[in-house]
Amino acid sequence: MLYDYNCPRSPMLYKMTKQRTAILSFLRSQHAHAHPSAEEIYTAVKKAIPSMSLGTVYRNLSFLRDKGIIEEFSFGKDKKMRYEAFVETHAHFTCEKCGTVEDVRFARPDLFIAACGKTLDHEIHKLNISCKGICRNCMKASS
Ligand SMILES: [Zn+2]
Ligand SMILES: [Zn+2]
Repeated sequence: MLYDYNCPRSPMLYKMTKQRTAILSFLRSQHAHAHPSAEEIYTAVKKAIPSMSLGTVYRNLSFLRDKGIIEEFSFGKDKKMRYEAFVETHAHFTCEKCGTVEDVRFARPDLFIAACGKTLDHEIHKLNISCKGICRNCMKASS
């Protein structure tokens, strides 16, 4: 097995255990909408690998996060840590009623980051944009 510490974004070069692969493919299968918590990932992956423990899920999520393969964040209603395999810069919408988290893509986040860096005279590494409101389903339900 090859290890390349100079290339943190290359998952192929890390040892992908059965557990790690299962967690990553689960996150990749529904990255667009779900933003699951560690407990939700555990429940789903345990179906395929019954011997999987919650501790193993947490350890593997930390590993994948540290390698930049997945993203970890918490700004949902319940303040739980949530995970996704969609690592391009994007914003998140959170519904104040049901807690649904949805991705919001926008054009050229790199330009916004560059402008912020220039204004502040700092080096910006990461951009987090969070939108809050009422989702379309909750609006329909209350009308
Ligand atoms: Zn809602
Ligand atoms: Zn997202």
